[in-house]
Amino acid sequence: MSERTLLHWIDGAPAEGGTRKGDVWNPATGRRAGQVAFADPATVDRAVAAAARAFPGWRDTSLGKRTQVLFAFRDLVARHADELARLITSEHGKVLADARGEVARGLEVVEFACGLPELLKGSFSENVSHGVDSYSIRQPLGVCAGITPFNFPAMVPMWMFPIALACGNAFILKPSERDPSASLRMAELLAEAGLPAGVFNVVHGDREAVDAVLAHAGIAAVSFVGSTPIARHVYETAARHGKRVQALGGAKNHMVVLPDADMDLAADAVVSAAYGSAGERCMAISVLVTVGSAADALLPKVTERLDRIKVGDGAEAGVEMGPLVTRDHRDRVAGYLEAGAREGAEVVRDGRRIVVDGRPDGFYLGPSLIDRVEPGMKVYADEIFGPVLCTVRRQTYDEALALINGNERANGVAVFTRDGGAARKFQNEVQVGMVGINVAIPVPMAYYSFGGWKDSLFGDSHVHGHDGVRFYTRAKVVTSRWSEPRQRGADLGFPTTR
Ligand code: NAD
Repeated sequence: MSERTLLHWIDGAPAEGGTRKGDVWNPATGRRAGQVAFADPATVDRAVAAAARAFPGWRDTSLGKRTQVLFAFRDLVARHADELARLITSEHGKVLADARGEVARGLEVVEFACGLPELLKGSFSENVSHGVDSYSIRQPLGVCAGITPFNFPAMVPMWMFPIALACGNAFILKPSERDPSASLRMAELLAEAGLPAGVFNVVHGDREAVDAVLAHAGIAAVSFVGSTPIARHVYETAARHGKRVQALGGAKNHMVVLPDADMDLAADAVVSAAYGSAGERCMAISVLVTVGSAADALLPKVTERLDRIKVGDGAEAGVEMGPLVTRDHRDRVAGYLEAGAREGAEVVRDGRRIVVDGRPDGFYLGPSLIDRVEPGMKVYADEIFGPVLCTVRRQTYDEALALINGNERANGVAVFTRDGGAARKFQNEVQVGMVGINVAIPVPMAYYSFGGWKDSLFGDSHVHGHDGVRFYTRAKVVTSRWSEPRQRGADLGFPTTR
C-alpha cells in the first residue's frame, strides 16, 4: 500500500495543520501504512472557529431537517459498512466481523438520534399563576468536542456526535491517532448526507491537540473515552476551564462463575469475551472469578477452547483473533506474562509462542491464561488490555463479591449461575456500572446509556441514550404572561402563585 498522509477535516474539507506527524501501522503485517498530521493549538483554533461560525445556522435548522441529515447519514454508513470495517481492520487489527459489529453498534446510536424530536420535547404548565404559563425547553450548548480511544474508532465517536449534532450542536472530534481513517470517512459521509460545512470537524493528534481542546474558551463541552489516567486529566482540566465534561476511563471487568452455572455456556462466554478483538475492548472480561468447585469444572473447558482459536490477519476469512494495535502495546501486554510468573501466578497458556504464517512482523500475541492470580499482583492491579485472562479462585460468593467491590475500575461485570436468587442478589450488591447475568459483555443498547462506576467514569452522565441528550443540551425555563395583570403598580414582594 502506498504511503498516505491523513489530514484534518475542517470546515467541510481536508485541511493541513501542525508540523508534527504520527505513524499509522497495519498491525497484521507490521508495516507502516501511512502518517497522520498532528494538530497544534492553531489548528484546533481553526476548527473551533469553523464550528462556531457554523453553529448558529445549524442550531436554527428545523428538527425535521436536522434529523433528515441523520437519516441520510444512517443510510450511507449502512451502505459503506463494509468499507468502514476494512479501514478499521487495516489500522486496528481486529477481525472484519468484529469491525462490522462495531459499525452496527454505532449505527444504533445514529438511529436513536434520528428520533430526537421526541426526546427534545419540553414540558408546559398552564396557569402557574393568574394568566401566567411556564415551560421548559432544552437548547444546544454550542461547540462540543469528543476525544476517543483506538479500540473502537467508529463506534465510540458514534456514541457522541450523532446525538450532539441532532441536538443542534457543532462538533469537533479528536480521534485516536493510532487508527484515524474511520473518523475521516465518517466526516465525508456526513457531508454527503447534507451536513453543512463546519458543523462536524476532525482534528488529529496527541496530547498537544487534546490539551488545546481542553483549554479552548470556544468549546462548551467535552466527551472523552479512553484510559483512566487520561480520563482523570481530561475531567479535571476541562472542568477547570469551565466546561461540561464526561470522561469514561479504563476497566477491569470480572466474570464470576458460581458452581451451579452451565459450564459450557460459561466457557464459551468467557473465551469470547476475553479474547474477542484480542482483549482490546473496554468491556472485555479480564478477570475470571471462580467460586468453589467451579474452577476445576470450568478451566479445562476454557483451555480446550483457547487452543482452537485461529490467530492471524484480521482481514482474512476464518481468522478469529487479530494482532494488537501497535508493537509497543503488544510488547507491554506480553510483559504481563513475565510479571505474572515472577509474582507467583501460574501461566497456563503463554501467547508469546505464537507464530503466524506469512506474517512474521505482525503485532501478534496468542491467547494467554494466568491462573491463581491475587490482588496485589501487577497483573491484577493494571488494566492489561490484551488477550491475557487472569483467574482468581475464591471459595464463596461473598469473597467473590468483596473482590469485585474492592476494584476501582468498575466498568462492567458478569455473573454466571442457574440460580435466579443469586443473580438478583449479585445485581443488587455489586458496585459496578454495567451488569451481565449469563451475558459476558453487557453493553447497553443505544436507548440505554453506557458508563461504568468509580474510576471508570468521571462526571455525572453516561454516554448516549437519554444521558446523551441531557449532556448535549441545557435546560431553560420560561415564565410568560400575555394577559392583563390583575393589579398594576410596582410590588417589591416575592412573587407567589396564590
Ligand atoms: P488513551 O487514554 O491512551 O487515549 C484516548 C485518547 O486520549 C486518544 O484520543 C489519545 O490521543 C488521547 N491521549 C492519549 N494520551 C494523552 C495524554 N497524555 N494527554 C491527553 N490526551 C491523551 O486510550 P487508548 O489506549 O486509545 O484506548 C484504550 C483505553 O480506553 C483502555 O483503557 C480502555 O479501557 C479505554 N476505553 C474505555 C471505554 C469505556 O467506555 N469506559 C471504551 C473504550 C475504551
